[in-house]
Amino acid sequence: MSLFSRFTLAVRSSNQHVLSRLLAVQRNMHSKVVIIGSGPAGHTAALYLSRATLEPVMFEGQFANGFAPGGQLTTTTDVENYPGFPEGIMGGKMMEKFREQSVRFGTKIYTETVSKVDLSMRPFKFWRENYEDKVPDTADALIIATGAAAKRLNLPGEDIYWQKGISACAVCDGALPIFRKKPLAVVGGGDSAAEEATYLTKFGSHVYVLVRRDKLRASKVMANRLLSNPNITVLWNTIAIECKGDGSVLNLLVTKDTKTGEIKDLPVNGLFYAIGHVPATDLVKEQLKLDSDGYIITEPDSTCTSVEGVFAAGDVKDKKYRQAVTSAGTGCMAALECERWLSEHFPE
Ligand SMILES: Cc1cc2nc3c(=O)[nH]c(=O)nc-3n(C[C@H](O)[C@H](O)[C@H](O)COP(=O)(O)OP(=O)(O)OC[C@H]3O[C@@H](n4cnc5c(N)ncnc54)[C@H](O)[C@@H]3O)c2cc1C
Repeated sequence: MSLFSRFTLAVRSSNQHVLSRLLAVQRNMHSKVVIIGSGPAGHTAALYLSRATLEPVMFEGQFANGFAPGGQLTTTTDVENYPGFPEGIMGGKMMEKFREQSVRFGTKIYTETVSKVDLSMRPFKFWRENYEDKVPDTADALIIATGAAAKRLNLPGEDIYWQKGISACAVCDGALPIFRKKPLAVVGGGDSAAEEATYLTKFGSHVYVLVRRDKLRASKVMANRLLSNPNITVLWNTIAIECKGDGSVLNLLVTKDTKTGEIKDLPVNGLFYAIGHVPATDLVKEQLKLDSDGYIITEPDSTCTSVEGVFAAGDVKDKKYRQAVTSAGTGCMAALECERWLSEHFPE
């Protein structure tokens, strides 16, 4: 993100903070439906619910889970794969538009983080950060859209070249001009790494996969596909230890052999992390059923969670696709399922 966008975001966020403090006097409120999270999933749910006159309330977070209100897309530059924007759109700008649309139809948005919930009985109770000892707010239904965050290695140089050669999403960024016909590296040894490396061969001149051990964790099918691809070289027992570049884009990765300790330079213009994501489920971890990786489990083809009246949408329940458009899709599903559920349980 450019310095200017960071500045704009900071100013916007501080204005929102002041606004939310003013609104914050409106505490101990009861709402029909509360949405926690403000990425594409949360805002799509808000749009559908507000158009259905259900007066949704959204808590968009105050740098919750490490992200500004608007979510993961606020940390990227061009989004080129969201339908309706043929020229592409900056991630931050796109999320501003999502927000405007939610507000236009009447969603009430609080720039606060929800730090605690009690889903043991209805109405559900929840507390705002820094007000955990106060009387909670309540809601008849909840939509959890708190998202996820890609794991990073926090290497020296990573902050300088993040989104300037370093990415955690090949499907999102692989087609960008800076990676075209350039040598690229993928870090990871599982199915995602195999999938991302194979995908990147469409764009890069060659793809190196750095695997810290002498074997892959990927399934046999994926491993075979990776190892038989002439445009991919697996560097076994290898880790990345530093990212270098010309100050504006990445052009070199310093690597280390985990067995011999040998340090080498690997000239690459792209580094893709495929080492997993962490879903933002701390809030609900003892109250909703989660899978072994911490993602919220929903019923098949549904956003219904293990607690009736609580719905989950977006990356927090999806470890497969993790795209803005799929998050928006499940946000829509959550709103429609929530609307139906409310009309059955709280008929007007
Ligand atoms: C660098 C980068 C580039 C990407 N590029 C693309 C792309 O080009 N195309 C694409 O389709 N996808 C892209 N993605 C993936 C996409 O951003 C995600 O799939 C999508 O944002 C997920 O949306 P979401 O609504 O589930 O949650 P998120 O976007 O993760 O948003 C969740 C929001 O909820 C807030 N929140 C969390 N906890 C709380 C709480 N307790 N209280 C209140 N608020 C809370 C967070 O602060 C955050 O703002 C990219 C991701 C990254 C990181």
